[in-house]
Amino acid sequence: MAVQVGTQNRRVTLESRPVGFPTEEDFTVDEVEVGAPGPGEALVRKLWGSVDPYQRGRMSTVKSYAKGLELGDVVTAQALGEVVSGQDPRYSPGDLVVGQLGWQDYAIARGGALRRVPEFLDPPTLVMHAVGMTGFTAYFGLLDVGQPKPGDTVVVSGAGGAVGQIVGQIAKIAGCRTVGIAGGPEKCKECQLHGYDVGIDYKGDDLRAALKDACPDGVDVYFDNVGGEVSQNVISRLNVGARIAICGQISQYNLERPEPTFHPGALIVYRARMQGFLVTDYVHRYEEAGMRLARWVAEGKIRWTEHVTEGLENAPKAFIGMLNGENRGKTLVKVAERSERPA
Ligand code: NDP
Repeated sequence: MAVQVGTQNRRVTLESRPVGFPTEEDFTVDEVEVGAPGPGEALVRKLWGSVDPYQRGRMSTVKSYAKGLELGDVVTAQALGEVVSGQDPRYSPGDLVVGQLGWQDYAIARGGALRRVPEFLDPPTLVMHAVGMTGFTAYFGLLDVGQPKPGDTVVVSGAGGAVGQIVGQIAKIAGCRTVGIAGGPEKCKECQLHGYDVGIDYKGDDLRAALKDACPDGVDVYFDNVGGEVSQNVISRLNVGARIAICGQISQYNLERPEPTFHPGALIVYRARMQGFLVTDYVHRYEEAGMRLARWVAEGKIRWTEHVTEGLENAPKAFIGMLNGENRGKTLVKVAERSERPA
């Protein structure tokens, strides 16, 4: 496997900073010549790309936990690819790796910034969701921050998405009653495939009444992916001693001014604990989470759905669709087939 001199690298770059909801015009596809890896680096050909809500934050100038994109930069993204060539003895051509390779056909990465995809993962794309970043987010956010106990009622917003589809199933393994909130009747039905006892449609149901029906004994753990009005309704049903894991606030990401939706006085009333977290806080425990999640997947205790868009050039469309709630489970872009490997 080699790349010929002059091979072009297609890249999706940030053309303009989205104002409010992103549009396809905020992105450009261009081509540059593929470079050569230096000492300690590998050239990786991308096969699959990840599409995630955090990418929206990188497109803005608002101060955050990670550096934002400059105009003209390749859009940051995790990706699964195959090593083409390199100068890091840990990798050989054909090895499958995952890393922050961006929305582009080829990337040069430091060997230390790549992780080898475990051979036993089938399909290997699991390394980008159920047994990867979004699975780890569900695992640590629920078990470490939410601290569920058997018999607790766990409510999850964004329940039909990449993180949400795993949280419900881990909560079920932990012996909890599970309530998922998602947009639309179809997604709510699918929530039940992903470990939720009840699915609530925040777009169609009377959320307050539906939560009252679904949580007759109140809410012990709230895993929040969306914030805003949905969270306000859940918080009004907390039990004393409840835990709220703030994972994401996607309802706010495209607003120029975030809504003032929550009054901390509620935490006094319920003697509740609310904690934000980043999955990267747990990087030292990824191996533990990876082993447990992989075992649960192999045992059929965790099921997952991939929402696949074909073609690197369609990554912006997939991203906008995900922000609009078009995805079922983990949003991925298929970029290329794996190369034939010698028998
Ligand atoms: P998803 O796969 O859940 O996709 C995003 C979903 O958000 C959409 O499908 C849509 O579902 C929902 N959504 C969009 N707008 C709204 C809105 N206004 N109100 C309610 N729901 C909305 O994404 P992920 O699973 O990858 O991420 C889920 C959350 O977790 C995000 O907030 C993300 O930022 C956060 N996250 C945090 C991490 C951390 O380390 N703290 C790591 C990874 C993710 P619907 O059809 O139901 O509206």
